[in-house]
Amino acid sequence: MRYSLFSLLRHSLSRHRNWAPAWHDAAPKAAYDVIIVGGGGHGLATAYYLAQVHGIRNVAVLEKRHIGSGNAGRNTTIIRSNYLLPGNNPFYEWSMRLWEGLEQDLNYNTMVSQRGVLNLYHSDAQRDAYARRGNAMRMHGVDAELLDTEGVRRMLPFLDFENARFPVLGGLLQRRGGTARHDAVVWGYARAASDLGVDIVQNCEVTGFLREGERIAGVQTSRGPIRAGKTGIAVAGNTSRLANLAGLRLPIESHVLQAFVSEAIKPFIDCVVTMGAGHFYISQSDKGGLVFGGDIDGYNSYAQRGNLPTVEHVCESGMALIPSMGRVRMLRSWGGIMDMSMDGSPIIDRTPMDGLYLNAGWCYGGFKATPASGWCFAHLLATGQAHPVARAYRLDRFATGHLIDENGRGAQPNLH
Ligand SMILES: Cc1cc2nc3c(=O)[nH]c(=O)nc-3n(C[C@H](O)[C@H](O)[C@H](O)COP(=O)(O)OP(=O)(O)OC[C@H]3O[C@@H](n4cnc5c(N)ncnc54)[C@H](O)[C@@H]3O)c2cc1C
Repeated sequence: MRYSLFSLLRHSLSRHRNWAPAWHDAAPKAAYDVIIVGGGGHGLATAYYLAQVHGIRNVAVLEKRHIGSGNAGRNTTIIRSNYLLPGNNPFYEWSMRLWEGLEQDLNYNTMVSQRGVLNLYHSDAQRDAYARRGNAMRMHGVDAELLDTEGVRRMLPFLDFENARFPVLGGLLQRRGGTARHDAVVWGYARAASDLGVDIVQNCEVTGFLREGERIAGVQTSRGPIRAGKTGIAVAGNTSRLANLAGLRLPIESHVLQAFVSEAIKPFIDCVVTMGAGHFYISQSDKGGLVFGGDIDGYNSYAQRGNLPTVEHVCESGMALIPSMGRVRMLRSWGGIMDMSMDGSPIIDRTPMDGLYLNAGWCYGGFKATPASGWCFAHLLATGQAHPVARAYRLDRFATGHLIDENGRGAQPNLH
């Protein structure tokens, strides 16, 4: 069914009681051409582009709970392509271009809002680094503007510009960045993939792999064995656990990242703002809540909940930047499990095991990558070749030393 003004009017005649489910909740078949493990944004986008771009429709997405119950439904919805390094920039810009046409492509309102992403700088050295990043972005055809203090003040007069420790000197603005509704992205991809014949199988946990010699020939699941020509892993925070079942050790650590939302208030912040002196970022949802977050919790965990010291740390950073925030009540906080790679950049590659492919290492920035990640993983699964914009995301870069260290912080996942 195509959503349109006409279908809305037609269904209003029956008081909206007869809408069909948006996607088909399938039972698993015995075999597929391709199995994608993980019903988050990346898994569903991969399945959609396999069917839509490559015509491969005998595909299943296996999700252990309900789709979107992982990080796809827990993130702070920021999308951007403000990257410095040539390994990253074309990939994230391709993602941004897919975001810009996503609603038309999926025929679904994913609420893409290009309200701008502003990274603040607080020292001369940081300004120079941001100027360099802005120049690199423009050289790749990505929009970037370096603002001085007055430029930022015009946008966000309520920031604490004269903060003694972290004065706001300016910011790097990407106007095309912004937010998208995370749940709607999951539902939109699921609906579009299901329409093209993809089986979305929920409550189906992958518990092992079927092997034929060195080849992975499918998966063992809580609902029985399922054979597959190719198997793709897209389980984000559970990557190391699942890869371990296949006998793989990966350069990935799992950490918790928390996020927070305040009570709803009147429109206050009309863009996404990040603080350069700490790891704090904030935007305002369409419902009025201030949505904010900061650093990952510093220990490894597979629990979808975090600890109080990080709550305090994030709120302190928020208060340093926006003192008036102290008068707003916090409504909720939650956590998700990050698949932190050693250099902070992702992996979209084959594994050493024939038939097994990997999509992982998204750290705390994988939501914005969802469309391009799905596009490039589908390309790899369908053609056996890395997509040109994802060529740098090789698994063996950790052995060869070709790291893509966007933050320049070395091989320490907790710093990325
Ligand atoms: C608090 C928070 C804020 C964030 N903010 C942003 C942001 O603003 N911008 C941004 O770009 N990124 C952000 N991220 C990161 C982003 O959400 C993730 O990088 C991205 O969602 C990961 O890809 P995914 O959607 O496919 O993962 P997930 O949604 O986690 O999908 C993986 C799925 O695999 C399933 N699974 C796991 N093991 C198995 C198994 N054995 N069998 C079957 N299924 C299994 C899980 O249940 C899960 O549904 C944030 C993350 C968090 C937690």
